[in-house]
Amino acid sequence: MTLLLKAQPLVDIRIAQMQETCLKLKAQGVDPKLVVVLIGDNPASISYVTNKRRLCEKVGASFELKQLPHSTSASDFKKIMKAINTDTSVHGCIIQLPVYGETKALRLEAMVDPAKDVDGFHPENTANLYLGRVEEKSLLPCTPKGIMSLLKYYKVELKGKNAVVIGRSQIVGKPISLMLNLAGVTVTMCHSETKDLKEHTQRADIVVSAVGKVNLLGAEHFDIKRKTVVIDVGMNKNAEGKLVGDCDFKSVAPVVGAITPVPGGVGPMTVLSLIENLLTAAQNQKDHV
Ligand code: NAD
Repeated sequence: MTLLLKAQPLVDIRIAQMQETCLKLKAQGVDPKLVVVLIGDNPASISYVTNKRRLCEKVGASFELKQLPHSTSASDFKKIMKAINTDTSVHGCIIQLPVYGETKALRLEAMVDPAKDVDGFHPENTANLYLGRVEEKSLLPCTPKGIMSLLKYYKVELKGKNAVVIGRSQIVGKPISLMLNLAGVTVTMCHSETKDLKEHTQRADIVVSAVGKVNLLGAEHFDIKRKTVVIDVGMNKNAEGKLVGDCDFKSVAPVVGAITPVPGGVGPMTVLSLIENLLTAAQNQKDHV
């Protein structure tokens, strides 16, 4: 039987824990607050921001949306970011992508103070991951952090296993490769130039697909005897407009050991990890006063 790696059971546990953490912080005079900076009104961005707001409010943290016009100049944007970075009532900030106009040319990943960088994209936080300096108080990129939490929750053995990560983006492919490597996994990174993807995936104990292509992986990519654990990060719309991952779920699920559903797998773990980072950032900032 294929195990379905659903996020919900873990999300429920973690929300209860975060509500408690939030209450404790408040009792110590810290009201954790997330600010999301959004340029324009892209409907997909608005929907992502709404999910973040909902979870923030559910755990008892404060949320503020700074919605800016498309015409925001680079210098105005820098001023706004400086104000957020120096505001001691703000503990976490993210810049919701995509951005538009002049702000597209800015080094956005370096614009949120590393202590408030709840997306885990700042070069300082990236360097810590690269250097293997990962601890409880680290601000790690949300999707890979969520994947690691899911693997731990479902007791997927990692040490000595072989993983294939497909995709080499800054936000998923690279950091999840590093995190799996730190956990003792032998990692192969595949990407758009990889010659024969299935030659790699068929030999993997764990496959993480972060590409963004409908039906990239089918039954032929897996060796049924390996009982591969598949983490499908892809978020794609299929021909019927339905949200699907990179796997052809119907053909892949019967030939693997475990698989994340889309929706209901990696997506909720990403938002959860963001709010976990917010509380970590709030705690870190309190400890540094
Ligand atoms: P990206 O678009 O920045 O990069 C895609 C990667 O796929 C590239 O590294 C490229 O080399 C690789 N690639 C392209 N075609 C390939 C092929 N045929 N074979 C092998 N590799 C190939 O990716 P991203 O921002 O990491 O996003 C990837 C997917 O994950 C998207 O669908 C995105 O929406 C989704 N995503 C989901 C979440 C979530 O929370 N569920 C979070 C982030 C991204």
